Amino acid sequence: SENHRTRVDSRSKAAFERAKRVIPGGVNSPVRAFKSVGLTPLVIERGEGSRITDIDGQTYIDYVLSWGPLIAGHAHPEVVEAIKRTAEKGTSFGAPTELETLMAELVCERVPSIDVVRMVNSGTEATMSALRLARGYTRRSKILKFEGSYHGHADSLLIKAGSGVATLGLPDSPGVPESVAVHTLTVPYNDLDAVKLAFERYGEEIAAVIVEPIAGNMGVVPPLPGFLSGLRELTTTYGSLLIFDEVMTGFRVHRNCAQGLYGITPDLTCLGKVIGGGLPVGAYGGRREIMDHMAPVGPIYQAGTLSGNPLAMAAGYTTLKLMTEEAYQHLEQLSIRLQAGLESNARETGIPMTLNRVGSMVCPFFTDKHVINYEIAKTANTERFRTVFRRLLDNGVNIAPSPFEGWFVSTAHNNDDIDETISSHRAALLKL
Ligand code: PMP
Repeated sequence: SENHRTRVDSRSKAAFERAKRVIPGGVNSPVRAFKSVGLTPLVIERGEGSRITDIDGQTYIDYVLSWGPLIAGHAHPEVVEAIKRTAEKGTSFGAPTELETLMAELVCERVPSIDVVRMVNSGTEATMSALRLARGYTRRSKILKFEGSYHGHADSLLIKAGSGVATLGLPDSPGVPESVAVHTLTVPYNDLDAVKLAFERYGEEIAAVIVEPIAGNMGVVPPLPGFLSGLRELTTTYGSLLIFDEVMTGFRVHRNCAQGLYGITPDLTCLGKVIGGGLPVGAYGGRREIMDHMAPVGPIYQAGTLSGNPLAMAAGYTTLKLMTEEAYQHLEQLSIRLQAGLESNARETGIPMTLNRVGSMVCPFFTDKHVINYEIAKTANTERFRTVFRRLLDNGVNIAPSPFEGWFVSTAHNNDDIDETISSHRAALLKL
């Protein structure tokens, strides 16, 4: 093969070996190491639009998009320009700026359940802070999450988590004290009966239900009809808060986030990824009456040296402004084209495959089962995933190195990218 991955002398390999000497596993986030697919990772030099180029000069059509944030593609000229213009005036002040208010106004306008929003630096901080708020507000300790959902790496949330935790098969991380873990209840996604049982047993103790309104860390698993509205009813009945973790889905699946798509109003919403436009941002927000419990208005504490950072606000604000109604329609059209191509490849080659998609979150599972939860997602053929992953990479297509992640499409992709991807995928399936 001409591909650099099989060359012993690739620069990526050498760079990764060097990184491993000074960075744990050579990476600053586990799944990047490509451990689960048995390769050394691409070491990236640059990105432009729908493509990334590694330090060996190989270019790939990218469906990772920094794990979701880059909805307008890599190095979008307007986003880069906004960052440059902002940087020239100083990179951080630790004092209020008008940009933060512009950003908050935009988020509040687009997400009707959010009256007030606090910016943080990652999705992890967003969910961690929302949980503290829910516990402080309700004066209860327990939280309920779903198996195979990932909400960042705060102690309470690293229980039966998805994403990299699932990829590496580490369902319960060492280092999380038992005294913390006992307060986290877990039930299968899409299983409203299990949620009901948990509430019957622990109702008065449950501070919040935290849910990805479209699960995106066990592959892509949409909510079954009635699931989210059932959660809304149960939490209201028992005086618990409903937290939508929209770190992945927020502004990706709809202009008004997943809650706009499904018409459900959570009490609190966590955001991240897209709202940072590729810079480190998270946010949590909700009804004023609840949010007013946070310092300095109320007694619950949360803070951040770099929170509301001007560069991050500029990148996020510009990205959200790019995401017009037409932009979402374009994403939908591209994603439908991708879905149709992948499905027809599977049909023609006789490979069992079920594709789940909501907007530009696309996930082909190697199974013929209807994937509605983590238990079923785990039964998909991982060996087949690994083979197809490698062949796609060989053919110039970069997807996440895990069967528990979806593919993301950006507005910078075009029909040619999609068609090239479909034929690479077809070639990958043919030799199975
Ligand atoms: N929640 C969800 C739904 C996520 O997908 C992620 C990241 N994949 C997080 C939280 C954590 O965000 P971050 O990696 O920015 O801490």
